[in-house]
Amino acid sequence: MSVTPDAALSPSAGRRFRAYTTKHLDELTAGAGLAADERLAVQAVANVLPFRVNSYVIDELIDWDAAPDDPIYRLVFPQADMLPSGDVARIADLIRSGASRKELNEAANQIRANLNPHPAGQMDLNVPKAGNEEPIPGVQHKYKETVLFFPKQGQTCHAYCTYCFRWAQFVGDADLKFASGEVDQLVEYVRTHPEVTSVLFTGGDPMIMGEGVISKYIEPLLEIEHLEAIRIGTKALAYWPQRFVTDPDADDTLRLFEKVVASGKNLAFMAHFSHPNEMKPELVQEAVRRIRGTGAVIRTQAPLIRTINDDSATWESMWRTHLRHGMVPYYMFVERDTGPQDYFAVPLAEAYDIFRGAYQKVSGLARTVRGPSMSATPGKVCVDGVTEVAGEKVFVLHFIQARDPELVGKPFFAKYDEKAAWLFDLKPALGATHFPWENAPVESNGLVDPTRL
Ligand SMILES: *Cc1c(COP(=O)(O)O)cnc(C)c1O
Repeated sequence: MSVTPDAALSPSAGRRFRAYTTKHLDELTAGAGLAADERLAVQAVANVLPFRVNSYVIDELIDWDAAPDDPIYRLVFPQADMLPSGDVARIADLIRSGASRKELNEAANQIRANLNPHPAGQMDLNVPKAGNEEPIPGVQHKYKETVLFFPKQGQTCHAYCTYCFRWAQFVGDADLKFASGEVDQLVEYVRTHPEVTSVLFTGGDPMIMGEGVISKYIEPLLEIEHLEAIRIGTKALAYWPQRFVTDPDADDTLRLFEKVVASGKNLAFMAHFSHPNEMKPELVQEAVRRIRGTGAVIRTQAPLIRTINDDSATWESMWRTHLRHGMVPYYMFVERDTGPQDYFAVPLAEAYDIFRGAYQKVSGLARTVRGPSMSATPGKVCVDGVTEVAGEKVFVLHFIQARDPELVGKPFFAKYDEKAAWLFDLKPALGATHFPWENAPVESNGLVDPTRL
């Protein structure tokens, strides 16, 4: 590709990182062999859902001979049919007629509002209160042991995945963002909550931050005795491995990782890998070696996405490659109920078959992986299987994590439904009136209402 990227859009000025955005899209999609009308439709989608890619993904990861079917191309490039055709036509007409930025944004915002931008109440649930009863910005404490933290400077990524469930924070609407710059409040919160043993930095991508910034967040946590682990949720290994090898602060970053380990805590590097092709370049393999050399443990996770990684062979190959490079497979997620979910969703029954098809072929060393797992409002629910109980075909499920710890590890059942793609598509089975996390349906006379079965 010979498209000139935009240095000004780099989140890390002075580095060799270069971002490509919507204004480069037409040229890039032409390189994938798309006709003019197809390119316009893609452009229309990119006005609604965020698009960003970089030279490494373009030059090293995408197989342009296979585009637009190449899985990495599909991972980062919007597809014309990701949104309802009426919405795409509406934006395409606006672009064609030379509409103003304001008109385009208004139309895009209306379309976005229908895409469930905040699944599982990300904006308003689980935000802990500080002593003054103000919510702590950027902190989400849903499960007793683990606090999620969204650093303010980490609210972007080296490239955007088309299926991202946090897409809303990348489209420039301040109301949709969820972030923090308040390291003191985080530290105070963790210090005064001894049940919190693990802090998970997430985003965006925390590794978009330079070492000088990320160390300000991490170092004060090393003083907290009851904290056992610091996790970093990131896709930088897949999208910008230079961050750990050749970037100007790569070595300092590794020293920071060593410091975490030397403090007696586990540094868990939660690497988002979507496809085995992401492990092919020598540079990422070198980055993995360097991170592991600090004593950090790399655990790998990704959602199961239609048309990108929706077959057992892909997962088997991915887990085998990760194992070979010393990484630990952690979660296979079900795609969340947001954005173009209809486009990417794999039904639970099929997700379970894909998971099992891969799991049964790898050694126990890779069977550390759990899934398919839904990160839903009541907790993380794993689909354990499909079976028959007393003549009724059912899903067997359990909570890996739950807001109510009592639910964790107890199996429960749901009616088998080959189309169900999310927890809330499921119905209780075997005569149950409600799921374990729901209140029993009650009538005004205090009796269970049988019509709500
Ligand atoms: C997944 C998740 C965690 C971490 O859960 P683990 O099972 O410990 O990996 C913490 N908080 C939230 C909100 C999560 O979704």
